[in-house]
Amino acid sequence: MFETSKFIVREYFRKMIGEEGMKIMENVPEGEITDEEIARLSDTKLTAVRKVLYTLYENRIAEYRTERDDTSGWITYLWRFNYDNIKKIMGDEADGLLTGLKSQLEDERKGVFYQCGCQRISFEEAAAKDFRCDECNSNFEYVDNQDLISELEEKIEEIEKWKREIKKG
Ligand SMILES: [Zn+2]
Repeated sequence: MFETSKFIVREYFRKMIGEEGMKIMENVPEGEITDEEIARLSDTKLTAVRKVLYTLYENRIAEYRTERDDTSGWITYLWRFNYDNIKKIMGDEADGLLTGLKSQLEDERKGVFYQCGCQRISFEEAAAKDFRCDECNSNFEYVDNQDLISELEEKIEEIEKWKREIKKG
């Protein structure tokens, strides 16, 4: 069964396959399975299951092989999830998030920020405008960004932890 309790993991897959796709993935046991079985287990229409499987296939998360019945000539598609690829994709996703968050954290630590009614800008930009915004006609006031810095640090810590879990699991 696919582990989807992690918020970031859920969000990632929700973007890719939607709410119905999440339900389908959560109901698929490990090993090979046909699309009909998935539809039955997840109580979802076969067309929806196939759509989700195709998206997962395009993202190299689901794979299939075919089996041909010699007497009837009927072809069965046997699907399975590639858990190694899921891990790799999740790891790449985590790295991408970390790069963005770390550079944002660095900017926040280095910078001094000011805010008016409509935007948040650096001290240098605010000084250049004489601390008055001509777009919303209010003054630029100093913003204490310590809370934002703590929030970013927490997020980074959470993703680092998640990365370690991906590697372990
Ligand atoms: Zn403004």
